[in-house]
Amino acid sequence: MITVNQRTYRVPTHPTVVVCVDGCEPDYIAQAVAHGRMPWLKQVLAEGTALLADCVIPSFTNPNNLSIVTGAPPSVHGICGNFLFDAASSTEVMMNDPKWLRAPSVLAALAEAGRTVAVVTAKDKLRRLLGHDMKGICFSAEKADTATWAENGIAQVVDLVGMSVPNVYSAELSEFVFAAGVRLMSRPVGQHGRPDVMYLSTTDYVQHKHAPGTEGADAFYAMMDHYLGQLDAMGCVIALTADHGMNPKTRMDGQPDVIYLQDVLDAWLGAAVARVILPITDPYVVHHGALGSFATVYLPAGLDAAALVERIKPLRGMEAVLTRADAAARFELPADRIGDIVVVAERFTVIGTAASRHDLSALDAPLRSHGGVSEQRVPLILNRRINGLDPQRRWRNFDAFDLALNHAQ
Ligand SMILES: [Zn+2]
Repeated sequence: MITVNQRTYRVPTHPTVVVCVDGCEPDYIAQAVAHGRMPWLKQVLAEGTALLADCVIPSFTNPNNLSIVTGAPPSVHGICGNFLFDAASSTEVMMNDPKWLRAPSVLAALAEAGRTVAVVTAKDKLRRLLGHDMKGICFSAEKADTATWAENGIAQVVDLVGMSVPNVYSAELSEFVFAAGVRLMSRPVGQHGRPDVMYLSTTDYVQHKHAPGTEGADAFYAMMDHYLGQLDAMGCVIALTADHGMNPKTRMDGQPDVIYLQDVLDAWLGAAVARVILPITDPYVVHHGALGSFATVYLPAGLDAAALVERIKPLRGMEAVLTRADAAARFELPADRIGDIVVVAERFTVIGTAASRHDLSALDAPLRSHGGVSEQRVPLILNRRINGLDPQRRWRNFDAFDLALNHAQ
């Protein structure tokens, strides 16, 4: 038994794989299954355990991946977006560095307990956070060709997988993750051999571009089904969940439906008095133009946040506007790393800073994005039947390791 962040886990007796499918709105699975493109998963849904769970808000990649591997919300692990605003230096700071992590992971504890652990991510930005303080294999598809024993616990990854390193904006970047997972699981048991526990995390490039049930989406889920079926055939316990869902965020003319909140606040309060931060912002903005349904607002001392909350609430497209304290309580966020106000937009609306700061010319398909409460529902599926689960319980994506290790072995 190991205890991590006040939860207890059994060390696995079967090889165990937890998969985080980035941007996996449950409807992607429903449509692909209905179209006959996921025969393995169709059977798992009938014979295994199929739950809907809530991800953490903001419904972004990093906070949720860290929640899944720590079994805890952002109030515990500290990662609540890609960016925070450092008021002291008046700069936006990336939260990609492990120094921002406040909690250990289940993966690190399993490795410490002598289990062989492997982590494969699509993008490299997540790798260092997920692999922090973890002995074992940890590499990204994006940087697979430069993996070394010293840094990643493995080398010659490209030879192992038998695929060249894909473009960062491609479905193949995620396929590489699954292919690597199957290759790692095929290795003989022993030193540097088959992992006891593996965490696979993909990228949502496909989901940002393709709606559920379209050929682009169905082909991706068919690919996934193929690899997951191979892992199942090797005897793996598989838990599949997602970091967040995905929704269209467009007006009737196909253009993004954006509330430019910095422009609104500048008009009300004066230029740059308030500072709008979009924690979705990251170095890979081509597919979403840095537009999501979650923003946080920093205010100068003396400005009444509660009064401004009441003024923002009636704006068209708002789902929830909360003070720092209310947002930290409702969404289990670290209060010291969010702004004075948290703003969540409705299902079909995104929040921008100033119109002049978003280059939408790179969007080559109608905007699909996430970040809000409307993208909170995600699948939580296990390829083993677990009896006696409370049907009324609010499941979280960060229950994946609990179910996989404590109930599905
Ligand atoms: Zn995304």
